[in-house]
Amino acid sequence: MGNKTNNYTVLARKWRPQNFEDVIGQEHVTTTLQNAIKMGRVGQGYLFIGTRGVGKTTIARIMSKALNCLSTDSPNPNPCGVCENCIAIRDGRCLDVMEIDGASNRGIEEIRRLRDSVAIAPVSARHKIYIIDEVHMLTREAFNALLKTLEEPPSHVKFFFATTEPHKIPATILSRVQKFELRRVEYNVLLDYLNKIAKDEKVKIDEGALSAIAIAGNGSVRDALSVFDQVLALSDDNITEKKVVELLGWTDREIYLELNDAIVKQDAARALEAIGKVVKTGHDPTQFILGLLRFMRNLLLFKSIPNAESVIEEPVDFLEKLKNAADNYTSQQLLYSIDVLLEVLPRLESTEAKQVLLEITILKLLHARKRVSLDEVFSRLAALETGSPLVEKERAAIYQAKPSVEHNKNVSEAAVAENKEDEKKKKKEALFNKAKNEPIVKQAFELFPGSKIIEVEE
Ligand SMILES: [Zn+2]
Repeated sequence: MGNKTNNYTVLARKWRPQNFEDVIGQEHVTTTLQNAIKMGRVGQGYLFIGTRGVGKTTIARIMSKALNCLSTDSPNPNPCGVCENCIAIRDGRCLDVMEIDGASNRGIEEIRRLRDSVAIAPVSARHKIYIIDEVHMLTREAFNALLKTLEEPPSHVKFFFATTEPHKIPATILSRVQKFELRRVEYNVLLDYLNKIAKDEKVKIDEGALSAIAIAGNGSVRDALSVFDQVLALSDDNITEKKVVELLGWTDREIYLELNDAIVKQDAARALEAIGKVVKTGHDPTQFILGLLRFMRNLLLFKSIPNAESVIEEPVDFLEKLKNAADNYTSQQLLYSIDVLLEVLPRLESTEAKQVLLEITILKLLHARKRVSLDEVFSRLAALETGSPLVEKERAAIYQAKPSVEHNKNVSEAAVAENKEDEKKKKKEALFNKAKNEPIVKQAFELFPGSKIIEVEE
């Protein structure tokens, strides 16, 4: 396979898009740019905004080729890729396309040099192009010098700026460029792309492994490909999800399911056993908690929005398991669990007693599963009083609470009238005892001291 030979090219370079059509997940930008070229309305300056690895400089390079492609007499929205200019730009050796790293050339001297060179006509291309990456890193003086050039640039000059932090760019610069916001690449789009690459590179890799790589990419094509490269370097056949998860230092999804099952069943011994397994196998505790946080967050999404499946970035078969797991919680319980996990993260870094901290955290989650919020107690009490069908199964008891003396008096009288048969009475007593031990009833007693159960129903 390719990665075993000496001339192995990293995937990010090999698969770097050479055409607008090849750019992943940024159609809203590439289509607009192509239309501008077709209509001969290419601006003087562009600013590409977006997180790392979403294609900002890639698009700037394709733009450079489009403007200078020799296969047509004027700029070409579909650069040929084979003419002298297209090849020189692709290989980074075109004298008229300058790529400047704003982080290391941020001073006024560098920008003055740039200003001087702007006036000189291009050597072999139609347009002289300046691509400044991380442009927000320029100093204030450098921005001022740049502004003078941007105000009256020679017609053969184009500026392509890229930034992750547009708010650090002066308004005077922003107002002179066309702005394009690149999106974080969606999980499904990234997954399709990785599938295509795997097929093309003839890599034997399972769906779960590709999914893990897509998740690790976290919206960035470059990051996903870099993980893919690491995976290929480790193993060259039959790449499984387990191998990728190990490489990333993540915890197997199944462990989260097992842990969750123990929490739901309030089985502390099993939950702690799962933690022991995580620690023994050398998992990074922080990665483990981050994974658990992701798990709980996904459960909360299932509780909070319709069609959560479409926004949760997990493999299809795992989504179903998540959905089932979510049924065991209330949103309140999940919010509380997530709070517990967020609190433990910074503490994990600063303690030697990581295992103890993990164990305590899991016990807190077990407790969280039992938690009933005050809101919930109130709404359930209200529902019990009005006989809402929603809580039919919880209508085992009617409480004599202060706000409803009148109502309960009526119920009480009715109950006395009904209680003539002994058998019925015994049955009621059994139900009464059962109801007394219900968590919701216990909480109600805490809430309204002196309350008592005066009637039970089947
Ligand atoms: Zn060309």
